[in-house]
Amino acid sequence: MRALGPGDRRPAHVPHRATAPPGPGARRHDRPARRGDRRHRAPRRHLPRRHPGDGVMGDNFHDLRSGQPNNDAHVGRAAAHLLPDSQSRADTHRCHAVGDTFASQPPTAVVATATIPGSPSDGWLELRTFAELYEDTQRTRIASANRVRATGRPEMFAKHIEAMERTEHDCSLMVARCYRRVAPAAIRQWQQDTPGIGEALLARLLGHLGHPVLAMPHHWEGKGTDRQLVADVPYERTVSQLWQYCGHGDPARRIAKGMSAEDLAAIGSPRLKMLVHLNAEACMKCVGTARSRRSPYRDVYDARRLVTADRVHAAPCVRCGPSGRPAAEGSPWSAAHQHADALRIVGKEILRDLWRVSQ
Ligand SMILES: [Zn+2]
Repeated sequence: MRALGPGDRRPAHVPHRATAPPGPGARRHDRPARRGDRRHRAPRRHLPRRHPGDGVMGDNFHDLRSGQPNNDAHVGRAAAHLLPDSQSRADTHRCHAVGDTFASQPPTAVVATATIPGSPSDGWLELRTFAELYEDTQRTRIASANRVRATGRPEMFAKHIEAMERTEHDCSLMVARCYRRVAPAAIRQWQQDTPGIGEALLARLLGHLGHPVLAMPHHWEGKGTDRQLVADVPYERTVSQLWQYCGHGDPARRIAKGMSAEDLAAIGSPRLKMLVHLNAEACMKCVGTARSRRSPYRDVYDARRLVTADRVHAAPCVRCGPSGRPAAEGSPWSAAHQHADALRIVGKEILRDLWRVSQ
């Protein structure tokens, strides 16, 4: 017999399963349940459909014992009598741990302490955390997009990638919002007055750098699970110390195999170096058009390219030679070498101005 389709009417001779008398070959579900059945269960009660927010009683109010109140949630704090006399019974945090966790929430108590450089709650840690969160989301999104592309059917995962892109965008807004609260007014004014210095990139740079002048060093003490990050005495950086910390110090310092931790630290932060490089690249692209101003750092770039146009290598250069065969000493710098060198000079000038306005 053909199975009934959705539009078919049930023939009169075919009994409905629930009303059919159980025959000798009937399945267990086709007869009334008995006590010995493993799948015995109470008949389902049909309660009126309720919507979220209807009434004040919980969903399982019909399961309560007689005499039990319907809303017996704790009126006071649990174990409040155990608290010391001096402790408030409502001592939860009044401000958010890392600022505006949600983009829609306005800043609260952080604003008042954001302008005290060097204090633990001056907001730099918050900015750093947001900058790191942004990079985390960006890294994950890029990895996921590559993974999805490798399947050959990226459209199947488009919604997931779109959600990740939205998260990344929200994170970048949080970085910028935090930067506006935390960064000193002089730095924000310099950013607005300088074509080529974008707020988002500068915010990320400051997130990883902290205050450009006031260094707040830390070091690790202990081993294993007892290892703790201990704050050292803050000090004021010189501009050359800022260059070095941002990977724009002595160009002869390069990462090498087997070098000590001190030598590695002296090279500076690779992430800060990358962020300064991105800022310099953005300035280099601001050549000035009818609708946009020319960046002063573009002039720095052009001037440096003129200086190095005829420069030759003082030592073998792996950047200019093909893989495995460095360019020989005395050979001219390639255009890529000149470009990278000019961007490095632009980065140093940006850091110098940043340091100057942060005094
Ligand atoms: Zn070279």
